Amino acid sequence: MSEPIVPHHATATRPAPLEDEEPLASLDRPGRPDESPDGEPIFDIRDLSLWYGEKRALNDVSLRIPKQRITAFIGPSGCGKSTLLRCLNRLNDLIDGVRIDGQVVFEGQNVYDPSLDVNLLRKRIGMVFQKSNPFPKTIFENVAYGCRLQGITRRLELQEIVERSLRDAALWDEVKDRLDDNALSLSGGQQQRLCIARAIAVDPEVILLDEPCSALDPIATAKVEELMQDLKDDYTQVIVTHNMQQAARVSDFTAFLYLGELIEFGETDRLFIKPERQQTEDYITGRFG
Ligand code: ADP
Repeated sequence: MSEPIVPHHATATRPAPLEDEEPLASLDRPGRPDESPDGEPIFDIRDLSLWYGEKRALNDVSLRIPKQRITAFIGPSGCGKSTLLRCLNRLNDLIDGVRIDGQVVFEGQNVYDPSLDVNLLRKRIGMVFQKSNPFPKTIFENVAYGCRLQGITRRLELQEIVERSLRDAALWDEVKDRLDDNALSLSGGQQQRLCIARAIAVDPEVILLDEPCSALDPIATAKVEELMQDLKDDYTQVIVTHNMQQAARVSDFTAFLYLGELIEFGETDRLFIKPERQQTEDYITGRFG
């Protein structure tokens, strides 16, 4: 049996409490599936279940995701991590035969409310996928894309947004002299940071990252992880990862899913050092998965 993974920040300063609130969670608080950090959540997921046809992929998941923190979804392949992530911006709507029960409340509004403007929702909640997916356009046009869709056409304004987004995505210095090159000429790691720049160009509140580093080498992975830390104060980030070390390195909170159920949720430091549930301990110590 291997040793539990110790988060890099386990001995460092805890994340600051949300404004006017008690610290988010303490080591001696149990990590029940419904454990919620104190403070205002940006997402309040309530009794969420999802079926692909007859197959149930999520089973009564309840979870509150805190604002301006990084939350990781971990668990073995096929346990529902990506499905849960895609529920946050209604990407599962695009799949035939999906049925959803329960609620995902985002900033006070149920995202499954039929009156909700899904395009606006997806503007507020950006997404970065496992396989970087730049458009076959220039670097500039990739970042400007969402802004153009929103009707921004003035060149100067677009230039400012593109530069700011590329700087925020820690890519500006590498590409500033080649903004008119095709984005597909960038390396895999650069393409993934370009996708992050494209996501933040439209000024979202949340960035969802679905296995963003699984196709990257360790150096490119480190850059993306560093970037996530840099973006932490401005965005809420939710990352799906099958890599427990990555969850321990980058996240403030971790949700462990198994067979469509939320087994345990809590502060990353606590969950990796002192898991409350036997299944969590078995998973993080490598007994299965
Ligand atoms: P994870 O992200 O943890 O690997 P997923 O959310 O991708 O898990 O999948 C959860 C379950 O739902 C799996 O059994 C998977 O096969 C199934 N599933 C995922 N996407 C679809 C789909 N589009 N159609 C049918 N079944 C799906």
